[in-house]
Amino acid sequence: MHRSELTVDLGAVRRNVRTLLRALEGAELWAVVKADAYGHGAVDVAAAALGEGAQALCVVTIAEALELREEFGTVRILCMGPVDSSREIALARAARIDEIPEGVRVHLKLDTGMGRFGLSELVKPTRNVVGLMSHLATADTDAGFAQTQVTRFEELTREHADLTRHIANSAAALRLPAAHFDAARCGIALCGLSPFGDDPSVDGLEPALSWRSHLALVKQLQTGESTGYGRVFVAERPTWIGLVPVGYADGFRRDLTGAEVRVGGELRRVVGTVSMDSFAVELGGQLPVGTPVTLLGHGVSAEAHARVAGTVNYEVVSRINSDPRRTRRVVVDA
Ligand SMILES: *Cc1c(COP(=O)(O)O)cnc(C)c1O
Repeated sequence: MHRSELTVDLGAVRRNVRTLLRALEGAELWAVVKADAYGHGAVDVAAAALGEGAQALCVVTIAEALELREEFGTVRILCMGPVDSSREIALARAARIDEIPEGVRVHLKLDTGMGRFGLSELVKPTRNVVGLMSHLATADTDAGFAQTQVTRFEELTREHADLTRHIANSAAALRLPAAHFDAARCGIALCGLSPFGDDPSVDGLEPALSWRSHLALVKQLQTGESTGYGRVFVAERPTWIGLVPVGYADGFRRDLTGAEVRVGGELRRVVGTVSMDSFAVELGGQLPVGTPVTLLGHGVSAEAHARVAGTVNYEVVSRINSDPRRTRRVVVDA
C-alpha cells in the first residue's frame, strides 16, 4: 500500500474553467500553472484548461515555460517572473515565450500598487511590446484598493488599448468586473480553491485535489502517555490514537496540529507534533489498521487547514510533495 495517494480531478478543473469564463464575460482566461499548478500538476492542469477554452498559460520561470512548450507547441506562454541571464532570454526567444526583457515578445509590467516588480510610469512601448500587465495586491481582501489599482492601470494604459491589457487574478476575475480588461490570469480558482479563503462553492468552484492515506498503526495511550516529539499531546484518559504515514516532508505541514482530517468518515483531530514522515490523530475508539484517512477533499478543505496553520490555501496545496518515491499520484477526469 502507498503511504498516501494524491488524486487530481481534471473534470473539476474543466468545470472551474467554465465558471471563470462565465464570470469573465468575453475577456480571455489565462491559466496560471506556476509551481506545478499549485501542486496539482502543471501539464495536466494546463491541458484541461486549454481544452476547455483557456487561451494562454502563465508561469514564473523559463524552465517552467520550456517544460510546457514541449507539451503545447503553439499556445501562448507568458513567463511572469523576472529573467536575468542572457542565456535564459535566448532560450525564451527560441521557444517563443512571452517575457519581460528585450528581444522577445514583451508584456510591460506596471506597478499600480503591489509594490513589487513593475514600472511606475509607462515608457513608450517598443515594437516587441505585445501586452501591458499589472498585478493586484488586495483583490481578495480590499476591493477599494484593488479598484484604485484598476483605475491607475486604466489611466496608464488608456492610449495603448491596442495592446493586450491584463491585471486580474482569480479574485478579480470572480468579483471585480472592472478589472477584466482583455485577459485574466487565474491560478487558484482553476484548482477550485477560494482566492478569498472562503468556502469555494460560494463562487461556484470545486476543489480538484484530494489526498488520502490510512491508519498505519492504532494504539491506546494510557493516562499520562504521550505521542510525538516534545510530548505536546499527553493523554488525560485512556485514548485511542492512529498513526498516519504522512508528515511535513510530504507537505502535511508541521503547524497542522489541531486540524481536522476524516478518519473512516468521521472528522478527527490531529494531535501532537507532526513529524517529518507521520502524524497522529485522536480516535473515538479502536479502528482497524488500514482505515482510510482523508487529508484533503471530501469536506476536508485546504481553506480550513490554512486557517489552522495561519497561512493561505495557496501555500497548503503548493507545498504538497508529489514525489513518486513518497506518494502515488492519480489523475482522473470525473
Ligand atoms: C500567481 C499569479 C497570478 C494568479 O493568482 P491567483 O490568485 O492564483 O489567481 C496572477 N498574476 C501573477 C503576476 C501571479 O504571480
